[in-house]
Amino acid sequence: MSEKKILVVFGATGNQGGSVINSILKDPKTANEFKIRGITRDPSKPNAKALEARGVECVAGDIDDKESIKHAFHGAYAVFAVTNYWEKMDSELEYNQGKSIADLAKETGIQHLIWSSLLNINTLSHGKYPNVYHFDSKASVEAYIRAQSIPATFFLPGFYMSNIPGQILRPSPPENTFTLTMPAPESTTVPLFDAANDTGKFVKGILTHREQVLGKQIYAATDYYTWTDVLNTFKEVKPEAGKNAKFLQITKEQYKAALAGMGMPPKAQEELYENMAFMHEFGYYGKAGLEESHAILDEKPTSLKEFFETAKAFEGVN
Ligand code: NAP
Repeated sequence: MSEKKILVVFGATGNQGGSVINSILKDPKTANEFKIRGITRDPSKPNAKALEARGVECVAGDIDDKESIKHAFHGAYAVFAVTNYWEKMDSELEYNQGKSIADLAKETGIQHLIWSSLLNINTLSHGKYPNVYHFDSKASVEAYIRAQSIPATFFLPGFYMSNIPGQILRPSPPENTFTLTMPAPESTTVPLFDAANDTGKFVKGILTHREQVLGKQIYAATDYYTWTDVLNTFKEVKPEAGKNAKFLQITKEQYKAALAGMGMPPKAQEELYENMAFMHEFGYYGKAGLEESHAILDEKPTSLKEFFETAKAFEGVN
């Protein structure tokens, strides 16, 4: 039997990387083809130990320290790389993290780098929305990877479905009825994505269609849903609570005040406001279709209905 190819997975203990590992191990064909090397800052923590028990080689490394992740690239064939902007909310840091990964991929001759990217919203909106840093810094890394001619595919996760239950759609006073609150119209179309379940479905498709997807952007979302669709899906899954559920469009100032109440700093308030606003005007993926991205899948992505049926934040809601 030929030797397995090493797939390095960043964010192995998180939503995206964890899903990549699950999908590769679940499919006998890819489980046989790839050996997974997961990166974590702390291999002694329980979820890293659980990965090891499943045959994943967990290696210690911190993306902020390029030298500490260098050894993980040794002998590797492919890399799935995700960064977590929200941990420090620092776009320069996120750019430097991505650049370190790209430089190492180049130095070690990685044959397929899969970068968890997003669009540049400042560019897409012609400067109208310059503060959506977590998109723009990932897009800048994508541009850097392209400039280095690294063999790469760009995986662009849609808007997480997990942002909705308990956050965007939740009981609100005074009546305590479920309300979907947005500083944008109800007709906004949003590409929804179950990151924890479906990242691996797309990344597996990317790995197994390498020639077809090199240099391409893969839009990882189940479908486009309007906020009305989201509300209607909630009503279908939770008929009792859904009876009086409603959509509420609020102003930018009201939205930012609500985020301030949750402890969000002013910079993040503006960033999240622009995030919601640009989706309506310019489209999360610049209004691109999903067909080409779905063509590489061999498993159906999770529908919003399926997601709501098992969402922890909706447990006990009927
Ligand atoms: P997550 O579940 O919070 O996990 C973060 C992972 O990153 C953990 O496995 C963590 O590993 C690892 N990590 C963080 N900093 C690290 C460092 N310095 N060195 C090594 N590993 C590090 O995150 P996720 O949901 O998979 O991905 C987050 C990203 O998704 C964000 O950048 C966000 O912008 C993007 N995104 C979110 C949405 C959305 O709708 N929410 C949509 C598109 C894209 P250890 O803690 O084990 O070290």
